[in-house]
Amino acid sequence: MSDNPSRPLVLVVEDEAALATMLRYNLEKQGFRVDEAGDGQEAMIRIAETPPDLVLLDWMLPVMSGIEVCRQIRRRPDTRDLPVIMVTARTDDQDAVRGLNTGADDYITKPFNMEALLARMRALLRRAGGVAAKGTLNFHDISLDQSAHRVTRNSRAVHLGPTEYRLLEFFLQHPRRVFSREEVLDAVWGPDIHVEPRTVDVHIRRLRKAINGEGELDVVRTVRAAGYALDTEPV
Ligand code: CA
Repeated sequence: MSDNPSRPLVLVVEDEAALATMLRYNLEKQGFRVDEAGDGQEAMIRIAETPPDLVLLDWMLPVMSGIEVCRQIRRRPDTRDLPVIMVTARTDDQDAVRGLNTGADDYITKPFNMEALLARMRALLRRAGGVAAKGTLNFHDISLDQSAHRVTRNSRAVHLGPTEYRLLEFFLQHPRRVFSREEVLDAVWGPDIHVEPRTVDVHIRRLRKAINGEGELDVVRTVRAAGYALDTEPV
């Protein structure tokens, strides 16, 4: 039963054996298949051998840290969209977790509530499944209809230039994740286009002007020295 390939495969990367066992038990009970790795290097091997649908990645790991594993996942074309949830201990530097652009889609702090973790995992898996198919991307009160090429905020139509549209579409595919200007350029303009990273700032400004109506929350967060994120939390 646990080999049924229609069940999402989760790679648990955790060096605390007791926690790994607890996670496996709970995840399997919820219908997931579970693979395990006890350190960062093993994680990369498991990912290459049996690509998972989602990675639950401990921040502090022997041999190779969770941050480095995450960077490698994002660097490889075949795994760059693989959903990653970083698991951090309360004692880890939370500012570093937030500020460093690790490329994780989400993170959760130990000790965590299993229900909260499952909710985040399901949300991520839903989102990942929706990226390939054209559909509607939603965040906060913003909605982008990919087939109709239409953007609305709070039901009001928003008119965007082609670059701003692609920018918003990209951010909507990875909400709350911080991207550097270079990463935004790679994703929206393409890796072979050589434009100044500052060009991103210009288009972000236009995007903000178009989507933020009067009195509305600025959903584009500027992360100093790091880049930008689509987020509803204040700067
Ligand atoms: Ca650890």
